[in-house]
Amino acid sequence: MGQDMAELGFGLMRLPLKSSDDQSSVDMDVLKQMVDAFMDAGLNYFDTAYMYHDGMSERAIGEALVARYPRDSFRLSTKMPIMMVSSAEEQERVFSEQLERCGVDYFDNYLVHNVSRNFYHTAQDLDTFGFLEGKKEEGRIRRLGFSFHDDADFLVQVLDEHPDVDFIQFQVNYLDMDAPSIESRRCLEIARSRGIPVIVMEPVKGGALANVPAQVREMFESEAPGMSPASWAIRFAASQEGVETVLSGMSDMSQMSDNLSFMKDFKPLDARELEVVSRAKEIIERSIAVPCTSCRYCMKGCPKDIPIAEYFALYNNMRNAPSAGLNIQVFYYRNYSRDHGKASDCIGCGRCEKECPQHLPIREYLKEVASAFESQ
Ligand code: SF4
Ligand code: SF4
Repeated sequence: MGQDMAELGFGLMRLPLKSSDDQSSVDMDVLKQMVDAFMDAGLNYFDTAYMYHDGMSERAIGEALVARYPRDSFRLSTKMPIMMVSSAEEQERVFSEQLERCGVDYFDNYLVHNVSRNFYHTAQDLDTFGFLEGKKEEGRIRRLGFSFHDDADFLVQVLDEHPDVDFIQFQVNYLDMDAPSIESRRCLEIARSRGIPVIVMEPVKGGALANVPAQVREMFESEAPGMSPASWAIRFAASQEGVETVLSGMSDMSQMSDNLSFMKDFKPLDARELEVVSRAKEIIERSIAVPCTSCRYCMKGCPKDIPIAEYFALYNNMRNAPSAGLNIQVFYYRNYSRDHGKASDCIGCGRCEKECPQHLPIREYLKEVASAFESQ
């Protein structure tokens, strides 16, 4: 590879919860144990954001990490939510609030969050990059970058306009290397050609590559007994040249222990293993119905309170494990739709699709969900 090995970063977007219905109910005891295990393994990079867990992720890591470890023993990153700010004053207020929430006086990495065709104009109008350069000069930010959710042509445009960023963060996983709206392979090439390090997000595609079809699970198991499907996905992302960090959004100690088991002393995939991954990709592509990463960005503005991510996960499960009679996923669907909007309640306003970093045709998929679950 001719480069430093990629390290594992702790993504703080899917933290352990006390109540699965309440994104702000972070289970602090479990989180502290996870932080300790991560630090004990010699790893120290943590990635949060203003909007994760309804604003609680930054506070939670402040309490679980910042208040319990010396400042120079870890690296912390967070992000400016350009999809939520509308004035220079608001940017200033959000940045100050983030320092206060996390309990730090500087961030090691700081990102413009969710740079895509939908939101980039806000960053340009508000001069978000210039504002953050100022924070870097003041010593409040060590390295400045952006998280990116669009295709390779748009990445070129953003980098031409902001060539001095210290890093870029985008999605790399073995399903999306050549997906038209994501183009991870081309994005990696562009970053390498400009000498900009890459931080990978969504290596397991929101859990989809942990929860693979039985045929793939068996193939992985026979190739490398005891190695989880998630381990194949994370090692694939970490094997890409130019990647400095792979973030994994760990939700419990078992995911943490699994990740540490293979990322503590990471070895890139060899040619034979890459061939196995490419066979896995073919099988998964035939079975996955909706390539949703469960990021939930789409759900906040839905006027019908439709739990889009949950419905897509149930639909994928149903398609992955079809059954002859009434499918168990139908019961979960009925539970959710008792307190939330049904898929068929969608009025087609399109608000959700503007927020979706995966550019999914959510309205069309909801029709499929409705016909799969509401006719039974
Ligand atoms: S298009 Fe449907 S699912 Fe999307 S925000 Fe509007 S009502 Fe909600
Ligand atoms: S539909 Fe899109 S925005 Fe909504 S949870 Fe899935 S990937 Fe995220």
